[in-house]
Amino acid sequence: MALLIGEKSVVSMHYKLMDEAGKVLDSSEGGEPLAYLHGAGNIVSGLEKALVGKSAGDSLTVKVAPAEGYGEVDPNGIKVIERAAFEGVDVVEAGMAFEAKAPDGTAQHIVVTKVEGDEVTIDLNHPLAGVTLNFDIQIVNVREATQEELDHGHTHEGGHAH
Ligand SMILES: [Zn+2]
Repeated sequence: MALLIGEKSVVSMHYKLMDEAGKVLDSSEGGEPLAYLHGAGNIVSGLEKALVGKSAGDSLTVKVAPAEGYGEVDPNGIKVIERAAFEGVDVVEAGMAFEAKAPDGTAQHIVVTKVEGDEVTIDLNHPLAGVTLNFDIQIVNVREATQEELDHGHTHEGGHAH
């Protein structure tokens, strides 16, 4: 009997992610399928929920609202800072993206949205915050996670190295 996706499953799947206008934002097409450990918060919660009970060979389309995707746009994440904060950066202009380290050590994505004189508007929201996610999913494989994967909270498929 085919293994059904649930807690402790390692799932490999091909996916295509589109916004509401049908624009492709991300895709595994032409590459390796994406593998994740189910139940560990490795993927957005709305997609994880929709995959419960599915098995290898299944195809599905899943619509995920921002609340169960990358969150709503947080107005507090939009800030105006001084140009001088960009020490060592020669040109600061709208559209530039940076990775910075947040106080808790996680990577923080920063996008410059506006430059006006000495004032720079930055947006700390996830690039997909506020976006309704439309996934096309093809499940390639479902297996039980190893104890090591469960201990680590992620799968070791897909070239994950320690
Ligand atoms: Zn690991």
